Amino acid sequence: VVLSAASGGASLVAYADSKPADENPTRKKKVVVLGTGWGGTTFLRNLDSSQYDVQVISPRNYFAFTPLLPSVTCGTVEPRSIVEPIRRILEKKKGNIKFWEAECFKVDPKNKKLYCRSNIGTNLDGTGEFLVDYDYLVVAVGARSNTFNTPGVVEHCHFLKEVEDAQRIRRSVMDCFEQASLPNISDEERRRKLHFVIVGGGPTGVEFAAELHDFVSEDLSRLYPAIKDLVNISLIEAGEHILTMFDKRITEFAEHKFQRDGIDVKTGYKVVAVGPDSIKMQKSAVGEVQVPYGMAVWSTGIGTRPFISEFMKQIGQGSRRVLATDEWLRVPECEDVYAVGDCATINQRKVMEDVSAIFKVADKDNSGTLTIKEIQDVLDDICVRYPQVELYMKSKQMSDIRAFIADAQGDEKKESIELSIEEFKKALANVDSQVKFLPATAQVASQQGEYLARCFNKMKEAEEHPKGPVRIREPGRHRFRPFRYQHLGQFAPLGGEQTAAQLPGDWISIGQSSQWLWYSVYASKQVSWRTRMLVVTDWMRCFIFGRDSSC
Ligand code: FAD
Ligand code: MG
Ligand code: MG
Ligand code: MG
Ligand code: MG
Repeated sequence: VVLSAASGGASLVAYADSKPADENPTRKKKVVVLGTGWGGTTFLRNLDSSQYDVQVISPRNYFAFTPLLPSVTCGTVEPRSIVEPIRRILEKKKGNIKFWEAECFKVDPKNKKLYCRSNIGTNLDGTGEFLVDYDYLVVAVGARSNTFNTPGVVEHCHFLKEVEDAQRIRRSVMDCFEQASLPNISDEERRRKLHFVIVGGGPTGVEFAAELHDFVSEDLSRLYPAIKDLVNISLIEAGEHILTMFDKRITEFAEHKFQRDGIDVKTGYKVVAVGPDSIKMQKSAVGEVQVPYGMAVWSTGIGTRPFISEFMKQIGQGSRRVLATDEWLRVPECEDVYAVGDCATINQRKVMEDVSAIFKVADKDNSGTLTIKEIQDVLDDICVRYPQVELYMKSKQMSDIRAFIADAQGDEKKESIELSIEEFKKALANVDSQVKFLPATAQVASQQGEYLARCFNKMKEAEEHPKGPVRIREPGRHRFRPFRYQHLGQFAPLGGEQTAAQLPGDWISIGQSSQWLWYSVYASKQVSWRTRMLVVTDWMRCFIFGRDSSC
């Protein structure tokens, strides 16, 4: 079927091999997954693909293990070791799964169609554009690097987001060393070439700085003895501290360690422009400074992909910065569209918006007041639907519902507790301040992918038995528990075999033992035995022979 596309009149070849749902009720529903990163891949690995007709669309025909990208920048781990072809992952699945190496550039949620473009341009008419229709859409396209429109960043800085970025950085580091070694250049010019600047003191920037420092001190200083003293690494952060998402103790340790290592941590500096060989930055107390540099890596955070912004405008989310979903990862006002990972954020519903409805459900005897037992009976449901209630009770160290009620009543404690609606509202008044946004991490994306796959696996069953386990719910049709994030902890590798680990329950460990924990966690999280073996061999090779400096 050849259609005329709405966008620019390009002709599109439709991919259509079946009739509309109504004509053929036994036909499997079409699930289209956009993206082969953490969210998309975990969804696919957990999906019972025999129930659906699955199509995967991504400009990248592989999954990349992003936590090891900083190691790729210095050759500690080879790029091939952290990627797994998506077709190998799909090969193991039952049923009918197709993969298209292409990017989606437009979503038409009304007609349930996706406009896609192959980046290898193989289609008949040479444009490489085609149309895909879906019954369910899973958007897992991740995010892009954010430059905050700082001039010169796109032209002169490296990002560290994709495998190619890491490879480019590696080449660029070596080029700087070779250029600085050439005869007939001034010491000043050598110094400039060997000034490595990292903008952004988040986990990625910090890990890259640490990795680069190790590379220089463990390998390159031996190979380039004449220029080793001219090397300088700067880490620029606009806030007061680096690694602010970690515990204070880790932040402090990292800042001190970097200071000892000679990494120049510049906090409170905002980069305002990047030129071909110098960076302009600002600090209120200091004013504007211009620093010459040889290579710069930009890692200040993420932004929404343009086609997602377009999609958000279409569905009335134009004023938001990030695509919002509900707690079931569904895009509101947009039937059968789901979003996971970095491209979306969960818009947690507030308790106070539903407080009257909750009261009504809880007040089983219609007495107009709630007894402790009545509250007790619905509390678990409330905590499932509104996780902030549990967080609030934890943060106030309330062990049970009595403590919660006593807290709301303040001084006027009563013997037999029956809460009126007014008192009930008061008890819940501060709870919504505990609503937390989930971080943009692989951990969140993969848990969301897995959750969504489990929902999809049970969708048919749930349609046949529409009574779900959750009693308190938004008016409507939820059959599943909302998504719930379980934080398993996070690492900050700081170089020199020192890693900081922050595990649940405020458990903090810094040093070589957490480095070993880091090795074992990241080895075990590999998606296949093949990559696991490659990564472990890379680590051993690096341990015995050092990193490779050729490129
Ligand atoms: P991604 O994994 O980015 O996947 C997006 C996918 O969508 C890609 O396959 C992409 O090719 C595809 N895509 C893009 N545009 C389109 C389009 N138009 N149409 C179709 N497909 C498209 N998290 C941790 O938890 N721990 C860590 O240690 C950690 N370290 C990190 C280190 C680095 C250097 C980086 C960059 C990130 C790190 N993260 C870490 C964060 C983690 O990688 C992301 O949160 C995670 O990748 C998000 O998963 P996602 O599926 O949303 O997006
Ligand atoms: Mg993905
Ligand atoms: Mg990924
Ligand atoms: Mg997210
Ligand atoms: Mg009652």
